[in-house]
Amino acid sequence: GPRIGVLALQGDVREHVRALTEAGATAGPVRRQHELDAVDALVVPGGESTTMSKLAVEFDLLDPVRKRVADGMPVYGSCAGMIMLATTVLDGRPDQRGFDGIEMTVRRNAFGRQVDSFEGPVEIAGIDGDPFHAVFIRAPWVESVGAGVEVLGRVADGSPQGRIVAVRQGPLLATSFHPELTGDLRVHRFFVDLVRARP
Ligand code: GLN
Repeated sequence: GPRIGVLALQGDVREHVRALTEAGATAGPVRRQHELDAVDALVVPGGESTTMSKLAVEFDLLDPVRKRVADGMPVYGSCAGMIMLATTVLDGRPDQRGFDGIEMTVRRNAFGRQVDSFEGPVEIAGIDGDPFHAVFIRAPWVESVGAGVEVLGRVADGSPQGRIVAVRQGPLLATSFHPELTGDLRVHRFFVDLVRARP
């Protein structure tokens, strides 16, 4: 299968490696530039985006990942990974850096004002079958997206249209929730197929 790395600075790396492997990829952790150079695509896991940002700078991976993203490498970001992929972060730390991938504004810990963690059904455009059983842990939501960004899913939270929790911009995919924790492989399969379809 395609070689897909999981950025292994911090966060739930093992769960993504397992889900990607089960979805047919050749998966492993990426902590160094030579490991990044060896993969076709990258997953940025859930965790804590402020810490991940700091470690990406310390491990000299921030600019190399930004460059791969700019060059069109497929990346899937889950939760903190979604934050790392956003062009604009609200309620972040002033020195927080990211990979500048998806033209969107995300708000950190957005649902957390009411509740820390919750689960709920999310329908995702392009993924067939039952709605996703989505697990949110101090999750961000997407406040707004640029013209090139496709909204794939929303979660009902009492707001008029629900909150945007899944998006795609070309080879870049992001979800506010954690499909790696539930054993439902459909998001990982979707990403592996997307990587396979790249020229
Ligand atoms: N709140 C975390 C952040 O801001 C994300 C939480 C998660 O990845 N589960 O990075």
